Amino acid sequence: MTQKLAHADDRFHDECGVFGVFGHPEAANLAYLGLYALQHRGQESAGIVSSDGSDLHLHRAMGEVEEIFQPSVLAELPGSQAIGHTRYSTAGDKALLNAQPITIDCNKGKVALGHNGNLTNAAEWRRKLEHRGSIFQTNSDTEVIVHLIARSQARNLSGAIGDALNQVEGAYSLLVLTQDELYAVRDPRGFRPLVLGRLPLPTGGEAWLVASETCAFDLLNAQYVREIEPGEMLRISKCGLESIHFAPQKPIQQCIFEHVYFARPDSIIFGRSVNESRETLGRVLAREHPVEADIVVPVPDSGVPAAVGYALESKIPFRMGLIRNHYIGRTFIEPSQAIRNFGVKLKLNPIRGLIEGKRVILVDDSIVRGTTSRKIVRMVREAGAREVHVRISCPPTISPCYYGVDTPTREELIASSNSPEEIRKFLGADSLGYVSLPALRQAVNDTEGKFCTSCYTGVYPTDLVQLEVRESSGNAPEMKKDLKREGTNGDTTDNAFMEKPVAVEHEG
Ligand code: SF4
Repeated sequence: MTQKLAHADDRFHDECGVFGVFGHPEAANLAYLGLYALQHRGQESAGIVSSDGSDLHLHRAMGEVEEIFQPSVLAELPGSQAIGHTRYSTAGDKALLNAQPITIDCNKGKVALGHNGNLTNAAEWRRKLEHRGSIFQTNSDTEVIVHLIARSQARNLSGAIGDALNQVEGAYSLLVLTQDELYAVRDPRGFRPLVLGRLPLPTGGEAWLVASETCAFDLLNAQYVREIEPGEMLRISKCGLESIHFAPQKPIQQCIFEHVYFARPDSIIFGRSVNESRETLGRVLAREHPVEADIVVPVPDSGVPAAVGYALESKIPFRMGLIRNHYIGRTFIEPSQAIRNFGVKLKLNPIRGLIEGKRVILVDDSIVRGTTSRKIVRMVREAGAREVHVRISCPPTISPCYYGVDTPTREELIASSNSPEEIRKFLGADSLGYVSLPALRQAVNDTEGKFCTSCYTGVYPTDLVQLEVRESSGNAPEMKKDLKREGTNGDTTDNAFMEKPVAVEHEG
């Protein structure tokens, strides 16, 4: 049986990555390299739109950045402005039509959009807009923004973008390209990251870059300038940079999980080194959940920095006891005769000589359904470990994300209905320890409550979370629930909502 590997690995799935270039003669090539550095944020489709000053040129395809953007394709993307997008789609939707950037030709001119995040009131807006005659080409929430921009009465594009975004709710780090302007916009709560960079040109002057993560600048030898602020629309044109604050201030809610898992450890996210946060989480884990053991082994790759921190703090030797295969294709053929732990073995293999006879501390960044973690624990035992102690560098994930991260339903999250002790038994581990929420906040230096932690608390910062609920028998979204949410500092939530996945497409 051929299976899609990405859906078989029981991990949280990355969101989307965006990259923009303004004022460089090789804009599309730079966008390609930028997306290459952001590939971890989405591997299912990618697209680049370039502008040569009079027209927009688009190429989107399914697949990874390297396979899509061959030299002949990049040669068809002329101009000194470009935006790119790499996308992870939710289960069941891999359609090319949902790939981004999206382009439109409206009364504001030719416009292309690339979006990282998820709108929580997209379903309501889609219904309203369809009622008023808008025809949707995709099932992505980003298209709601496109229609709202096109319908805005504002005289210029920045006004129309502001108009549109003031009507939607949720998470967006958005790039908008026109023939001669690049807009970089972040939602007022700042859920998803977006950073500004500068690349000096050999001929003098400079190009401006915008990216989901700073690791994309490093690849291009560009300088990291600053974050796009929450609620800021940065307009980049030949006249320079113009910062527009398009929305009333809201409490900042940066995604803490970017620091735990999503972002690359070599990136600066929300003004802080991701690697530093992860090592600190490992140190905290060692202090909160010490245990006598012989070696600390990370679940590679994402568990490595936290395992380093745990080893440094506990003074227990760090060993790469599990080796990851980086060259797995997008699909695999499952043998007809079941092989134990098959899916996990494709990705990870233990080094028996390091593990045999040892008491092992196994460090990972999260547990989703628990099925993969259980297989890894079994694999380590089969390699001869005497004891296996699992340590997780974040609190138990009890609730889904509605802000651009693909999570399973609440029921599927093992920690939503099981205590750590029950999870330990399920994993077959000798002990299990999670980082506490206060320690997680400390590790990212969140002294002012500026981070979203909703997947650990079940309390959402947006006032209204709208979910399309699928009827159990069919695929069509039939019913919508409007769910009141208190802010993160509020006491109450309506827990009646915890049902099925969001049907409106996560744009990552
Ligand atoms: Fe990030 Fe979790 Fe908040 Fe989603 S719910 S934005 S994953 S912290």
